Amino acid sequence: MMDFALLIAKWYRLNKRKLPWRETKNPYFIWLSEIILQQTRIEQGTEYYKKFITHYPTIQDLASAKEIDVLNDWQGLGYYRRARNLHFSAKLIVNELDGIFPSTYSEIIQLKGVGKYTAAAIASFAYNEETAVVDGNVYRFLSRLFDIHTAIDSGPGQREFQSLADRLIIDSDPATHNQAMMEIGSLICSPQPKCNECPVQQKCLGFENGTIADLPVKTKKLKIRKRYFHFFIFSEGKKTIIEHRTKKDIWQNMYQFPLAETMNEDDPVLFDLNNQTQQSAPIKHILSHQHIFATFHHIDGLPDEIKKDWVIINRSNIQDYPLPRVIDRYLEKTSNK
Ligand code: SF4
Repeated sequence: MMDFALLIAKWYRLNKRKLPWRETKNPYFIWLSEIILQQTRIEQGTEYYKKFITHYPTIQDLASAKEIDVLNDWQGLGYYRRARNLHFSAKLIVNELDGIFPSTYSEIIQLKGVGKYTAAAIASFAYNEETAVVDGNVYRFLSRLFDIHTAIDSGPGQREFQSLADRLIIDSDPATHNQAMMEIGSLICSPQPKCNECPVQQKCLGFENGTIADLPVKTKKLKIRKRYFHFFIFSEGKKTIIEHRTKKDIWQNMYQFPLAETMNEDDPVLFDLNNQTQQSAPIKHILSHQHIFATFHHIDGLPDEIKKDWVIINRSNIQDYPLPRVIDRYLEKTSNK
């Protein structure tokens, strides 16, 4: 496999995108970039990466930050559990590991929010450990290159692809090799592959056998849950109400306008809407396992009863609170922020 590794490494050196986390071997920075890039596009992730290394240049800075500030800096990226895990792990590393970032795959994978892919990426990029990364791009690339029809989302498939990737990385420069595999999967062996520009086209069994369009194979269809959220924007002068989410879920510790959820699209909203003045069209917000349809109801005046987790704030200060992305989108759209 030596010449395969050399071919892709050469291609990578000539064609790689210049990304800020590729300029460093600092494991803390690489960890930040990997967590930010989970479920986030590179363009958007780059801005957040720069913000985080500026606001928290060391792991000690992140560990000593308040959670609300970290969540605020994360605002707009969604999937807030990632930010909470970063903050939790930074505190753990500072308090229990003398502030020294773990240096092997088996230690890194113990960190909260770090799975096999992320641990392999950090261990290889920062410490050059010979651990092969297999992300969505690598699955696609390998399945076509070796014409493998085992489902990539099945247990046997994951083991087969991991063991293949583990063999390919042997005797290479692990950091370059892993980045090259992912970069070719992303830029060349993309869903619509650019086989004419592929450095390993001559070795590609999928290309030879005409099976590229069928690969990779997947079994499971994701079950999407539909949810109908109704947010209430009360206004009295400059005042409005936000609610602190204490429930253990993806939006824990964030703030939102008071919310009622209905089971179906047309269910009545059980809330006193006598003074309602305006209702938005539903905004569709897509998460990996659920589609949220959010309707915003504007109501004149504040309610008589202020519930336990509600906070009355000055409307213009709303950006001081971490908000779910769907609310942020609505405020951006209506320029009320
Ligand atoms: Fe992917 Fe085409 Fe290259 Fe095969 S030849 S690895 S299908 S880009």
